[in-house]
Parts: sequence; C-alpha cells; structure tokens
Amino acid sequence: MLDFLGDLRRTHMCGVLRASDAGKKAVLMGWVNRRRDLGNLIFIDLRDRTGVTQVVCNKELNPAIHEKAGQLRNEYVVAALGTVKQRDPNTVNKNIPTGEVELVADELRILNEAKQPPFLPGDTVLPNEELRLKYRYIDLRREAMQFNIELRHKVAIAIRTYLATQGFFEVETPFMTRSTPEGARDYLVPSRVQPGSFYALPQSPQLFKQILMISGFDKYFQIVRCFRDEDLRADRQPEFTQIDLEMSYPQPERVWEVVEGFLSAAFKATGIEIKPPFPRMTYDEAIRKYGSDKPDMRLPEMTDVREAFAPENLATLGVSATLPVVAIRIPKVGELSRKERDDIKPLFTAKGGSKLFEDFKRLEKNFPEAASKIRPKTGAQPDDLLVIVSGDNKPGEHKSAGGVKPEVKQHDHAVYTAAGLLRIALAQKYADRHGAFKKTGNPEKDFRFLWVTDFPMFEWDEDGKRWAAAHHPFTSPHERDMDKLQSDPGAVRALAYDVVLNGTELGSGSIRIHRQDIQTKIFHALGMTEEEARARFGFFLEALEYGTPPHGGIALGLDRIVMILAGAESLREVIPFPKTARAVDLMVDAPTPVSDAQLKELGIQVKKG
Ligand code: ASP
Repeated sequence: MLDFLGDLRRTHMCGVLRASDAGKKAVLMGWVNRRRDLGNLIFIDLRDRTGVTQVVCNKELNPAIHEKAGQLRNEYVVAALGTVKQRDPNTVNKNIPTGEVELVADELRILNEAKQPPFLPGDTVLPNEELRLKYRYIDLRREAMQFNIELRHKVAIAIRTYLATQGFFEVETPFMTRSTPEGARDYLVPSRVQPGSFYALPQSPQLFKQILMISGFDKYFQIVRCFRDEDLRADRQPEFTQIDLEMSYPQPERVWEVVEGFLSAAFKATGIEIKPPFPRMTYDEAIRKYGSDKPDMRLPEMTDVREAFAPENLATLGVSATLPVVAIRIPKVGELSRKERDDIKPLFTAKGGSKLFEDFKRLEKNFPEAASKIRPKTGAQPDDLLVIVSGDNKPGEHKSAGGVKPEVKQHDHAVYTAAGLLRIALAQKYADRHGAFKKTGNPEKDFRFLWVTDFPMFEWDEDGKRWAAAHHPFTSPHERDMDKLQSDPGAVRALAYDVVLNGTELGSGSIRIHRQDIQTKIFHALGMTEEEARARFGFFLEALEYGTPPHGGIALGLDRIVMILAGAESLREVIPFPKTARAVDLMVDAPTPVSDAQLKELGIQVKKG
C-alpha cells in the first residue's frame, strides 16, 4: 500500500481545497468533525485549523473503505487519500469555503481513536466554562478559539516586526528575580541552595529595562510574561503578557509615536486601519470631563453646569455652591418612565458627599431658567438622557477615590469621579438605545484611542497613611514640580501617561528618573529611609551613578489588545491556557500541595489548618 502519509506533495490542509483542484489527488489529515451515514454513502467532515472538507466513502466504489468509515467516531484522527471532485450544483455547501468540492476517498487510515469528548468542538451551545478550561485542548479545537489564537499570533508578529524595523532589540530579562514595585503582591520562588531566601517572579521587567538603557541598548522591547498576585477581578490574570518597551533620550511624544506605530501595525494585521496620532488629554482634564482617568470617548463628555443655577437654587436643592455640578448626557435614551428612573438610582454608588438628580423633567419644572441654560450648554437633544450629579452641602463628607491634594481639588475630584462612574453605568445600561458601543466598520468611531498625560505623581494611601507612587517610584516628576516634593506631594505631576481605548487602559508608562539624587529624593518622599531604599534598590541606585542616559518607556497589555480585536468578553478567550478567577489552572490542576520531601529540601514548613 502506498504510504501516502509521507507524500507531502499531495498533503493538503482541510480548509484549502477549491473547485480549481477538481481532478487532483489529495491527502487530508484531521479530526472527524461529523460523520453522516446514508447507507451506501458515508460522509465525513474532516477538520483542522484551516477548516473542514467533506470526504465521501462510497460502498459501491470501495467497500473496504466504506467499512472503515463506519468505524469512525467524533474526534478520531484520520488520514484520507482520494480525488478531489466538484460537487453537483444541488449539493454545494455555500456556508464553507470548501463547499464546492469533496474528496472521494481511495484510502482511509485511522491515525488515532478518541474517547467520546465531554463536548464537541462543533457544538453550537457552549458547555460551562469550568468544563471548557478542564478540557482546554478540546475547547481550543473550536473554531472561535482557533481564530482568537491565530489573531494573537498575528498581532504579536506584527508588533515584533514593526519594532524591529524601528531599531528595537527584543531582549529577555529574568523571571527569577527580586521584587519589582508595581503595587501587587509578588509570586515567590523558594531557593533550595539558600534556604529561607526567595526569588520573586517579576511584576514587570521595569528595573531590568532601565538597566538595559544604562547598558547601551537604547531601544528595547519584549513581549513578556508578568506575574502579579492580586485579588482577581473579572479581567485580570495572575500571569499576563505585556508589550514592554524602553528607549533612551525620548520626549514622551517619541514614546507615543512608537506605540501608535506598533498599534497601527497590530490593527492592520487584523484588517483595521487606525489613524494616529491619538488625541491627548491631561489627567485633570480627563477627570473634569469624564470623571475617569480612562475616558470612554464614544459618548459625550460631562459638563459643569453650576453656573446655570442661581445661588438660591443651589441652596434649595441642598447642593454645594463651591463643588462642581455635573451634567451627564447619554444620547438617544428617550424619556424615562418612573420605574426606569428608580432603576437608575442604584447605579449611583457614590459613598456620600455627592447627590444625584435623575429627574431632569422635575428640575426643569422647578427651575426652568437653570434648565433652559443647561440644555444648550450640554448640547442635549430632546431625546437625550440628562442627569445631574453635584456635591451636597454637608461639609467634610467628600471622600476622594484618588486622594488628590490640595483639599478643594480632592472634593471636586470626588464629585467628578462619582459622576464618571454613573456615566459609564448609564452608558452600559442604555447601550441598545444610544448604539455608540456597536461596531460600525468605521475605525475612527469604533476605536477611540486617547493619551492621558500628566498624572499625579503620588496617591494618598489611606490604610498606610502615607503617599504612594501613583505609577511606580521610578517615574520622573515634572521639572516644574520638583520643589513641591516635600511641601505638597499631592500637587506634583509626573511625566506619566496612559494609552486608553474605549474606556479601557491599554498601557502605562513614563519618563524615568535618571539621576541618583532625585531617585533618592523620591524614595524619601514615599516614606522610605535611606537604609530601606538601599536594602531594596541599592543595586539600582548604584547603577544610576554609572552614566545613565535619560530614558522612558511604556508597557501595554497584549491580552487586552487581542481581546478587544477579537471582540471577546473575557481575557480567558484569548489566552491559550488561562487561570480561573481563583487563580487555578483547571487543566493541569495547579496549584497543588507538594511532597514533604520537597518542602524539607527547601527548608519550608507549611502550617496546617
Ligand atoms: N512597568 C510599568 C508597568 O508594568 C510600565 C512602564 O512604566 O513602562 O505598568
């Protein structure tokens, strides 16, 4: 018998045969997607990552093959040799690219059998996610997952190629290292040779990439895994992939240009043309206009309408005359019923200090003059939803999420962020009505990128009662704010920036501190003593003293970018082997306890109970 498995000239992927191949001999190898037994004819849909082709086994032409075909079950791995035949016009399957042809089998070989899987790749109804993750290898055979993983590959290749052509080197940095302060807990790896000592898995390659600048690799990038032990929220993973980059001598604009370049290349690889440069907005402006440091600009900005109210109006309404009075406009929601207005109230989750006026009609009735100014000021059309968020006039209740100083600003911030959260909640609730989240096919509308710049350098950590780095402690403050480091840390702005897409933060970066004396000052402002700073970052402080060029960079989440491009709902849809919300890998069953012998070797004792 011809050993057709080795005959690569005739080997085809299952999704490639077309009408023009009719008459050719071909070999297909793949999984049995479906088998239909019509008596004398058995049809097998053979599947691989390129698609499906129908293989026909005809009892009259070849009884032995027909019999073998009868033994096939779902997900058997099969090789079929045969002749490509144009299908009769009435049997053409218009739904698949190979639908005009079929392979008439001359030989059939079962390469491997398969147990009945817990679900089939072709099932139209998805099993629950636990089952999908436990049997991830079956789940990954599904067309949607094959698409997502291919997309991920294309995006990564496009980014690598773009950065390489711009002169960036991809350089690997260690996974077994020491703690990097990105604000999460570390995953620790015990050392056997030095019992009681631990490596930390990197939360990011931050210090290594800065050291690479000191080492003369002036354009670095890496598509790299990072590890953060955080309480997992819906779209977080304990290990995730960053597109990490750093360059010497850049202005922020140069970093942005590189990011815009590689994002354009990545989007182009999936057929979407985006047009840089992206708009830019300072952090303060973002808070004022959107109540968020990651504005979703597919919907209108908020408007401060305090001026529209006379002071007596504000007093009657119990509204602070000094805090912002913010109008939120969501287009095309239409008039709300009383019940719908009641449904809005729980969306307003501000913890005190802010007030919601969800019944604009009533405001209009009681304060016609103010309302008549608010409509044009916000640009509201008659069928737009308008709600107002203000500060109430009980002093001392205004808690800010961001802890921004000085005090007055902190109170403003609280009102803006309360309004910003409500704006997004309303936008999601009424997505069907305003339609702004629906893809239109016009990239300028569908993908609203934005640079948010000039973040605060520090955040007030209420628990620790101290200032913490808002980005990380290697971020450079603005030159003009240097003198406020001690006297007014909350007012110091950083050369830090985020790239945002449709209300999602894709990445953060900054221009770094490149002088040892300033780095020491920042550690000091963060409440670290000289000794603490030396103990944690001594190697880095020393490196800074050996001729460090000015440098800066950024890191973007690859998983998130692919998720958006795939139109997926969760990061788990675009990560081949993800973990659950409890940080468990259900397929390999990790983490697991280890043997006493292993623990002993590491000098570790686990407390029971
Ligand atoms: N290391 C930072 C992060 O992971 C990014 C950067 O500053 O380049 O967020």
